Amino acid sequence: MRPQFVAHAPVEENSSAAGALKNEFPLFGERPELIYLDNAATAQKPLSVLDAERDFYLKSCANVHRAIHSIGEEATARYEQARRRLARFIGARPVETVFTHGTTESINLVARTYGETLGPGDEIILSVMEHHANMVPWQQLAERRGVALKFIPVSEEGELDMAEYGRLLGPKTRLVAVTMISNVLGTINPVEKIVGAAHAAGVPVLLDAAQAAPSMPLDVKALGADFLAFSGHKMYGPFGIGILYGTERMLDALPPFMGGGDMISEVRLEGFSANELPYKFEAGTPPISQAVGLEAAADWLSSVGLDALGEYESALAQRFMEGIKGIPGIRILGSAARRAGIVAFTLEGAHAHDVAAYLDRFHIAVRAGHHCAHPLARRYGIVSSARASFGTYNTCEDVDTAIRVLSRAGEAL
Ligand SMILES: *Cc1c(COP(=O)(O)O)cnc(C)c1O
Repeated sequence: MRPQFVAHAPVEENSSAAGALKNEFPLFGERPELIYLDNAATAQKPLSVLDAERDFYLKSCANVHRAIHSIGEEATARYEQARRRLARFIGARPVETVFTHGTTESINLVARTYGETLGPGDEIILSVMEHHANMVPWQQLAERRGVALKFIPVSEEGELDMAEYGRLLGPKTRLVAVTMISNVLGTINPVEKIVGAAHAAGVPVLLDAAQAAPSMPLDVKALGADFLAFSGHKMYGPFGIGILYGTERMLDALPPFMGGGDMISEVRLEGFSANELPYKFEAGTPPISQAVGLEAAADWLSSVGLDALGEYESALAQRFMEGIKGIPGIRILGSAARRAGIVAFTLEGAHAHDVAAYLDRFHIAVRAGHHCAHPLARRYGIVSSARASFGTYNTCEDVDTAIRVLSRAGEAL
């Protein structure tokens, strides 16, 4: 029986669970000294995920769909089983659960299909804290179709200006696309309010769940999402796979995204007929072994107490912030009331890259840069920051070591 995170338990208690879970990640066996605090960029993979992919290659490797031979049927069954598991993971039905290559492709898919139905006079609402993946596809659409983009401002505390959001929502709004959790500030956005206001105005909502999927249970129906996107690799699964959820009504009304095999039901020289959902959006050979690995990641996350995991990661972030806020020259970005396990900070007089390189000398991995959110960095008047982000295997000791090393960085740099 694997250790589990427990809601409302003391952080030290959950920290022992995290320490025990670390043993399931072979990479930490290879690198016992590593303190990995870059989980918002990608998470390490438990053995069960690696085994699931390997098992597929060893025993059932074949292309999916249209296969008459039994190994092809078996591969198809494994792939569709993975889809059913991922659908259940987010409270969706399999027809609404499209395999993509990640959050970026999922959002581009919506921009290239739903987006193409829009034109001059139509507006899309985003926020200033969006990852480039939820900004650039809409900017490209704005260039192609003359759609106007409106941005919900972010306060100094790192929270969305909900009053301004209310003013931006209007009869011209065709979509609201926002992140559930900021990958820089860690802010957990008030999704219920955002969706509620949009739906009251008859506007569909796309939720970027790239940071949410690894740290909280998702229920697309309870969230009221019309579209929801996330990546496998940030939720302890393989690279090269992600999910786009869309309501059947929405997806049915959209044209296919890419053209190729699998997304058609029939091709003539004059044209094609699109396949049914969800295959209409899965052109070409899909990421099959990755789907099998992602299924194992969903199983793994569900088995460690996903409802309490986010709370534990937030507690680690709080501990980290408490520990570093007194260090001379440290500035923590944002102070949102609801914060996930992500903390971005700057150190006066030092470039964020030098801070990260200094921590790396002590085997502490943090990210430094703009974190794929240039406009947000500009909002805070900085070019870069360092970011520590916590995951299932991070312990209180990891956090305390990072604080200790960071407290000496100022003199060293
Ligand atoms: C990482 C991230 C993305 C992009 O995910 P990819 O896996 O790189 O496609 C989008 N949004 C947020 C909030 C992210 O953290």
